[in-house]
Amino acid sequence: DHTKPKAQELAFHKGDLITIIEAVEGKGWYRAKHNDTGEEGLLAASALRERGAIRVNPKLSLMPWFHGKISGVQAVQELQPPEDGLFLVRESIRHPGDYVLCVSFAKEVIHYRVIYEENTLSIDNEQRFYNLIDMIEHYMKEQGAICTKLVKPKPKSGMKSAEDELAKAGWLLNLQHLTLGDRIGQGEFGDVLQGEYMGQKVAVKNIKCDVTAQAFLAETAVRHKNLVRLLGVILHNGLYIVMEFMSKGNLVNFLRTRGRAVIQTRQLLQFSLDVAQGMDYLESKKLVHRDLAARNILISEENVAKVSDFGLARVNPKGTDTTLLPVKWSAPEALKHNKFSSKSDVWSYGILLWEVFSFGRAPYPKLSLKEVTEMLEQGYRMEAPEDCPATVYMLMRSCWELEPGKRPSFKKLTEKLQKELKHLGDV
Ligand code: ADP
Ligand code: MG
Repeated sequence: DHTKPKAQELAFHKGDLITIIEAVEGKGWYRAKHNDTGEEGLLAASALRERGAIRVNPKLSLMPWFHGKISGVQAVQELQPPEDGLFLVRESIRHPGDYVLCVSFAKEVIHYRVIYEENTLSIDNEQRFYNLIDMIEHYMKEQGAICTKLVKPKPKSGMKSAEDELAKAGWLLNLQHLTLGDRIGQGEFGDVLQGEYMGQKVAVKNIKCDVTAQAFLAETAVRHKNLVRLLGVILHNGLYIVMEFMSKGNLVNFLRTRGRAVIQTRQLLQFSLDVAQGMDYLESKKLVHRDLAARNILISEENVAKVSDFGLARVNPKGTDTTLLPVKWSAPEALKHNKFSSKSDVWSYGILLWEVFSFGRAPYPKLSLKEVTEMLEQGYRMEAPEDCPATVYMLMRSCWELEPGKRPSFKKLTEKLQKELKHLGDV
């Protein structure tokens, strides 16, 4: 705690979140802003610790109250001693796939069968929910058709609550400081909304699937100028992911709406280089993206391209179900044998280069997914986009080598693009 600051110093408590504005020259001090109070001031670098990563941990859950398959008798035992509103959710043994909400009330345990119908969950056939997280959140606010408002979740033993872990690592933001605005995009896991967090423009993604959220949390520690920055998360309605706002939207729309008349080759090269640098960083961290495509690149106010969606890529259901893969972006070995690596990301990067230099066209125009797969096997590759520099087309082709080992690394791609940009400056 530093509660009696001298003039210009910042007051803080242990565990508070602080954003560094700048280093004070040669002093070991920072000028910084307190994330909760918004106050600015000086503080000693030695008092700060960088935010930690959330460890990959199967015991980490947004639903610590979910006990899995246990009997009604076991549930009653779990909810001892009695306490009004103490609850858990279990999976029914007699009816696998059905859930039971168990609530302690007036020294009894009451079991509510959760009926799954038409893709929704319901206890009373009136209030319907899309998932358990929504349902529990609702009955914590309103008693509705059950005996009491839910008050206190009974965590499954050994389960760590995501909330505790996030707070410890310093990623938990305060819901009170968040204002939600218009919808700016439609994501696979839900809407993306614009918002404001303590005066800063942000984008907010809402994830309601426990498994997806966990995989996401595992990758909180990556940070690079060409990766969309995570600011923190809020546990509300599942998980709110708060990230920096990328005002110029995704790269496909950026290119399509402006076109050849407005965008110069230099800018296309710069975007390509930005993406290669972000991917080089991911590769160095041994992270595989799996869904690299121009639609997952976002553009900042200053025209910097940044890779997004890298946290979600790993558990993306697309990963296991090959029928859902982004076929036109996926490397042959990924499609056929589910072999994902940084080298399969490089293949996708080649497709992304093609998208960039054709100003946002969809790859393999006029070909069906089946045709693409077959023709690739016979050695077919896309032609160069109109007016595409020959050196850039050669890069694409090198990314599309059948043998993964023959494709360049993102480091190599970065070097080549830097050279290309420099060359453009020289002539
Ligand atoms: P998902 O991968 O879950 O389908 P995306 O992350 O691709 O969702 O987001 C969908 C759309 O929302 C993007 O194409 C983009 O237009 C918008 N969007 C997403 N994140 C941001 C952000 N940080 N800033 C601005 N717009 C965003
Ligand atoms: Mg996406």
